[in-house]
Amino acid sequence: MDDYSILFEPLAIGPVLAPNRFYQVPHCNGMGYRHPKALAAMRAVKAQGGWGVVCTEETEIHPSSDLSPFIEGRIWDDSDLPAMQLMTEAVHEHGALAGIELTYNGHQAYNLYSRLPALGVRALSTGYNPWQARCMDKEDIRNVRRWHRLAALRARQAGFDIIYCYAGHNLSLAMHFLSPRYNDRSDEYGGSLENRVRFLREIIEDTKEAVGDTCAVAVRLAVDELLGDDGITCQADGYEIIAMLAELPDLWDINVSDWENDSAPSRFAKQGYQEKYIAFVKTLTSKPVVGVGRYTSPEAMVSAIQRGLVDFIGAARPSIADPFLPQKIKEGRVEDIRECIGCNICVTGDLLTVPIRCTQNPTMGEEWRRGWHPEVINPRKKGEAVLVVGGGPAGLECARALGQRGYQVVLTEARREFGGRVALEASLPGLSEWRRVIDWRLTQIDKLSNVTLYPSSLMNAEDIRQADFKRLVLATGAHWRADGISRARWKPLSGLDLLPVFSPDDLMAGISLQGHIIIFDDDHYYMGSVLAERLTAMGCQVSLVTPAPLVSYWTQNTLEQKRIQERLARLGIRFYLQHVLESVDQAGVRIKDLISGGMAELACDGLVLVTERRSNDQLYYQLKPLLDSGLLTHLSLIGDAQAPHLIAQAVYSGHLAAREMDEQRNEALPFRREI
Ligand code: ADP
Ligand code: SF4
Repeated sequence: MDDYSILFEPLAIGPVLAPNRFYQVPHCNGMGYRHPKALAAMRAVKAQGGWGVVCTEETEIHPSSDLSPFIEGRIWDDSDLPAMQLMTEAVHEHGALAGIELTYNGHQAYNLYSRLPALGVRALSTGYNPWQARCMDKEDIRNVRRWHRLAALRARQAGFDIIYCYAGHNLSLAMHFLSPRYNDRSDEYGGSLENRVRFLREIIEDTKEAVGDTCAVAVRLAVDELLGDDGITCQADGYEIIAMLAELPDLWDINVSDWENDSAPSRFAKQGYQEKYIAFVKTLTSKPVVGVGRYTSPEAMVSAIQRGLVDFIGAARPSIADPFLPQKIKEGRVEDIRECIGCNICVTGDLLTVPIRCTQNPTMGEEWRRGWHPEVINPRKKGEAVLVVGGGPAGLECARALGQRGYQVVLTEARREFGGRVALEASLPGLSEWRRVIDWRLTQIDKLSNVTLYPSSLMNAEDIRQADFKRLVLATGAHWRADGISRARWKPLSGLDLLPVFSPDDLMAGISLQGHIIIFDDDHYYMGSVLAERLTAMGCQVSLVTPAPLVSYWTQNTLEQKRIQERLARLGIRFYLQHVLESVDQAGVRIKDLISGGMAELACDGLVLVTERRSNDQLYYQLKPLLDSGLLTHLSLIGDAQAPHLIAQAVYSGHLAAREMDEQRNEALPFRREI
């Protein structure tokens, strides 16, 4: 067996001792102060799964840095402590350390709830909001230092072991002070790097003085903003800041900024992608260093430590996809690790202000409200067998979880290969890691002697009737429509028979195209953009028409949008934003500008419609009478066959159907709420 023992060595962080080197770095989750029981249960599962340190998300220290509408942590006064204690107690119960990321976000705080003026390093605005922060004077700086100190004391009272001074992600005031882009002050807090570092140094010293005898003081610092000379870089300011403060904190938690760069999706960055930026840090400090980079392989983790890059393996996403990753490594069950696929669906919880979810881990966010555990499932009470039809993400997860519950399961799939849409989509540019959704489930099913797989087995209603199962789950997926109807177009397009027209299904089936191809994207997630990349790679000239004001509009929620639009622009793809298809003829398409109403003709050799999908639910309606007549005791429709949605939802839907088989369901309220 490979030697991963180094990962399990205890390591001191100032006055506290981490039980191992698995470090769940702070990460947002859309639960925060609003869902404290759910949050505590989620963090507890990570501690139980072996993460030696489990941290909060960014936690507001004062109402003048109120991050609403985003739901983060809150430690404004003592009344927040009971909620915080839920987490620290739950984490301690499993022998892990609890860390808290205190933050004061300066001009990045919207203060929509508190309505207090934001305090910034200068009078800055943020986003496209029509307001600005007030430039802090010396008294304001003293106040923020005092608030930070008081928050540190409260955090210790709440039971935290590690207390952060946060200077990352372009979010926190301490980072704004560091950045010449924001800091134009002429007092002792501006100008030279020594001056720009002053505020960070002061809050570290304040925190050490307040709680440093019993708590570790960590600094989360972005050492590179990937902005070249316009930002902090690991060759210049990033390097110098570490050199200046090297021995001051008890731990350095190092990453790149902003969040888009730190949580880069697998489409754009692979495991260990931050190593080249953070490699220098350990040469300057004797204090332990945490680094992230979506590490899911124990070999890569061991190597990062042995190469002297980091002391702790930091993880947000790998701990979300598999809270039990450390324990699985410890037990030599590496093949059981549910590896993060780098899709950033977890991030959408924070940005859409709802509890976190994960494509790979359907129990994420359900630990408290549904009582789900990522490794444990309710055993079956009755003995009957289940037929699951359709082996996409929904069917695979349903069959796997039913098998884990102890059911006899037969899973049939029309194609030779299991995986449904994921198998097809993973072959599109940049999406190969998404195969992990299939691979993990097939590996687990392989270990279950009670689950039998039948590939190349297309079933019709008669086949299903003859198979004589009492319990039937249909996971038959969906297909892309090709009639031009979409959210922006409620009437079918005329002239579709005059031009070669394709759906994403046609392209994923391997059709090869030439010439100028127009993609009409009214789906707004990744599909339009990955097809544009694929067609470009085939040698086509591609134009993308979309009613949205941005390419792949929804990918703003997965932190991908800018990169996608930039990549497509670099590939020479022409964009027609805020345009809709009007009609089609032999020569090409007519498009309408949604703002001006103006029309334009675009000559082309083919049209790809990325619009909406239709559920494959015919079997369900054919078989429903069997349920009414008692020949079936259970019939359910899950995943995209129920309603086309994210892959995450297909996995979730399969998991839910398995958990609920033969269980009482509360239709009125299927989960607990925090009121
Ligand atoms: P989901 O995302 O809900 O899992 P997918 O479209 O990814 O949906 O997967 C559905 C799978 O079901 C596909 O692999 C498809 O080949 C398979 N399938 C659809 N209809 C049948 C059927 N009648 N018999 C067997 N397999 C089917
Ligand atoms: Fe990884 Fe996607 Fe899960 Fe996030 S949602 S942890 S990126 S698999």
